[in-house]
Amino acid sequence: MPIADECDMSGSDASGQRRVVVHRLLGTRRCDSPNQDARPPGVVPELIVIHGISLPPGRFGTGLIDALFCNAIDPLVHPELAELCDLRVSSHLLIDRGGAITQYVPFDRRAWHAGVSAWCGRSGCNDFSIGIELEGTDTTPYTDAQYEALAAAVLALRQAYGAIADGAIVGHADVAPGRKTDPGPAFDWNRLWRAIAA
Ligand SMILES: [Zn+2]
Repeated sequence: MPIADECDMSGSDASGQRRVVVHRLLGTRRCDSPNQDARPPGVVPELIVIHGISLPPGRFGTGLIDALFCNAIDPLVHPELAELCDLRVSSHLLIDRGGAITQYVPFDRRAWHAGVSAWCGRSGCNDFSIGIELEGTDTTPYTDAQYEALAAAVLALRQAYGAIADGAIVGHADVAPGRKTDPGPAFDWNRLWRAIAA
């Protein structure tokens, strides 16, 4: 089962700003996923892909997202999730309903979140992107705490990785159209843009 470090609350300053140090977002819970590998030589993060996820679908706070990203879903305990047991997936970050952030993969490594995907004519978005999962569904409003945590994370990532341009924040559905729908119509993009601008 995944091992979580103690929460490091030193990661934000008095203004609530977050920081990335050695490819980790400070102030986050850590749960290392084995589902990661090296980015291609010379490739740095240029894109942020936002996802929505809940396990089982529509239920929150079950701990099963940790289990999925650490290959620890037990099909005997959760037969309804048996088809996920052979998946090898991860993301860099998960933001839960309360706004708490877990990091599974350091940002200089490749997390396995986007699958078959393309952005601006470039395929294989995992190579050059950072994946952020929001605990939620396509149709359940995301929480205030999630928008706040996401905006802080995006600002810290853009400060740490200058190659992430203004328009390079997209949804999974944008890079895998027809195959993926998350984070769904429930996600308020204008709210994210406003929070980042503020
Ligand atoms: Zn997704």
